[in-house]
Amino acid sequence: MQIDCPHVTEIQLVPDGGSVCPACVAMNGTWVNLRQCLICGVVGCCDSSPNTHATRHFEATGHPVIRSIMPGEDWMWCNVDEVGFRQRQGSYVAIDEFFDAGMWFIAQRPVGSTVADLAPDEVTPEGFPLGEWVAAYRERGRRGELDEQDRAALEAIPGWTW
Ligand SMILES: [Zn+2]
Ligand SMILES: [Zn+2]
Ligand SMILES: [Zn+2]
Repeated sequence: MQIDCPHVTEIQLVPDGGSVCPACVAMNGTWVNLRQCLICGVVGCCDSSPNTHATRHFEATGHPVIRSIMPGEDWMWCNVDEVGFRQRQGSYVAIDEFFDAGMWFIAQRPVGSTVADLAPDEVTPEGFPLGEWVAAYRERGRRGELDEQDRAALEAIPGWTW
């Protein structure tokens, strides 16, 4: 899925962000999660943190794009266009939360279950429409709307057919 954010062309190769919010350290503050400016490399704390240094950096400088530097997270966010995306095979693609959620619920199914056991209207105990999810991504795959990484992830699900 393509993203609608012209600012990706401004993204710089910034150095590793480290593991602290320097502005919080300077004021003896605390933070929850860390974000890094992809224009100048400054690290700031997230909007769940008391001092929201990442957003304050954006407000002060206009630098639009940040990334999460929390372990296991690879998303970026444009504060101007308010879109999340990640880098895949050299290009930027929109984050598809529905896809990620479905992959998570698929992984929670008992070992040995396959897509063939899933009813088309199956809903997880948490209320996620897993049957519809399968149908939706089959449809998108047939229409050629999925990138190779998504296709590979789906094909790795036991019993997946297009
Ligand atoms: Zn943007
Ligand atoms: Zn901070
Ligand atoms: Zn910056």
